[in-house]
Amino acid sequence: MTPSYKFSDAKSLPFWFTTVPVTADCAPASQDATYDLAIVGGGFTGLWSALKARERNPDAKIAVLEGKRCGQDASGRSGGFCAPSISHGASNALTRHPSEAETLIRLGQENLDDFARDLERYEIQGEFEQAGKLNVATTPWQIEGLHSMAQNYSRFGIAHELLVGDALKEKLDSPVYSAGLFEPSYGLVNPAKVVSELRRVCLAQGVEIFENTPVTSLKRDDDMMGVQTPSAYIRAKQVILATNSAKPLLKRLSMSFIPIYDYSLMTETLSEEQWASIGWLGSHGIADSGNQFHYFRKTADNRMLWAGFDAIYYYGSDRNDELLQRPESFALLADQFVLAFPTLADVKFDFKWGGIIDTSARTTFFSGLAHRGQVAYAMGFTGQGVTASRFAALTMLDRLGSFNTERTRLKMPRRFAIPFPPEPLRSAAVKLAQKSLAQEDATGKRGGFLKLLDTFGIGFDS
Ligand SMILES: Cc1cc2nc3c(=O)[nH]c(=O)nc-3n(C[C@H](O)[C@H](O)[C@H](O)COP(=O)(O)OP(=O)(O)OC[C@H]3O[C@@H](n4cnc5c(N)ncnc54)[C@H](O)[C@@H]3O)c2cc1C
Repeated sequence: MTPSYKFSDAKSLPFWFTTVPVTADCAPASQDATYDLAIVGGGFTGLWSALKARERNPDAKIAVLEGKRCGQDASGRSGGFCAPSISHGASNALTRHPSEAETLIRLGQENLDDFARDLERYEIQGEFEQAGKLNVATTPWQIEGLHSMAQNYSRFGIAHELLVGDALKEKLDSPVYSAGLFEPSYGLVNPAKVVSELRRVCLAQGVEIFENTPVTSLKRDDDMMGVQTPSAYIRAKQVILATNSAKPLLKRLSMSFIPIYDYSLMTETLSEEQWASIGWLGSHGIADSGNQFHYFRKTADNRMLWAGFDAIYYYGSDRNDELLQRPESFALLADQFVLAFPTLADVKFDFKWGGIIDTSARTTFFSGLAHRGQVAYAMGFTGQGVTASRFAALTMLDRLGSFNTERTRLKMPRRFAIPFPPEPLRSAAVKLAQKSLAQEDATGKRGGFLKLLDTFGIGFDS
């Protein structure tokens, strides 16, 4: 059982929030107004949409309507792993989207390169580093999984390195992990800094940002769209919905994803000796290979983020700020931390928080148009949206502009998002899927229920 001193100083908020300068909220929308483009949601997806729309049209009147403060939800709470992928990895592209896997893999890498270029171009101080990611395995079947991942990578020319023994210990020395696959192309950012910097750049580029401005409804208004907020009615020629895991404003999307809660711990600052005791000398991020997986990484001030494993669904797709704290998940994470890093058994945690993942049954984002092509949406990132959100923003702008691009020709974002059933079936199905995934982690055998889901291209991930 986790001793209580481990959490005695732990603050119940995302560590990342404490690393950004405190600035005043943008004023809420208080007057009726008309815009060329209104963007609902001020996370990565909404802010990239605003910035890219500005690049395309320097004179457009653009508004971001954010219900809280930009970056308070998933974007500012995330692990900050920057995947060279828009398809939840190469293996997922191959399994679920074989006919365009090669294109998806290439576009994923290009998107990460362009993401890095954009950060540089706009002088976004987001602690971006192309530090790589190490995938580690504990069981024989996870090791087999790493080998098949390596085969896929070789096929598509993705740089990687299989590591065991001393080579692994040079990247991570833990009694729990016996093999690894290193992917050098992965990046890492401080997610709250990136979102706060994107907000700064958007404001500097003349984008109007309204915070504490929840959009309550959306309707047609002659040839425009009408966007209702508590204190202003906004008319816009086009609307982008970048609301991620929130209850969608379009009814048709209400079954397309479910909110899954994911929890994180941040340690106190670790000394060089402590890092050396676990062989983690580089700045790469790490994730383990189970269906229920941990992701862990260093911060600029030498703390360790230790997160994941539990993926909690609350009955009725409940979304509630109180659920962002879950003592049982924090205690489990703390116990698992000691198993993975016995030399760090006395380390304390300074921060604990949760975040909501917009889990789509296809495990990749989907995007589409509504209201005669005047409204675009993109969501369902399923835990891999730090870089994919940029690609999704460009996809929405392409589609609103009726452009024929490689992005709009992709089938993956347009493919029907298999709906989750209504309650009480939804809870039962999620429970069964989670039980089956845990069983597979324990035995290496994929049970009948998961095989059935595979047949329909349905995944369950976080
Ligand atoms: C704990 C956690 C860890 C993660 N780790 C990683 C990772 O390491 N790497 C990775 O690639 N991905 C990760 N992800 C996923 C990634 O963070 C998301 O996919 C990405 O941030 C999505 O960005 P977004 O802008 O679409 O959503 P959000 O950041 O959630 O932004 C949506 C915004 O819309 C606003 N909003 C919603 N409804 C309304 C409304 N009606 N009116 C006005 N505003 C509204 C919300 O307030 C919110 O600010 C993680 C997610 C979580 C939760």
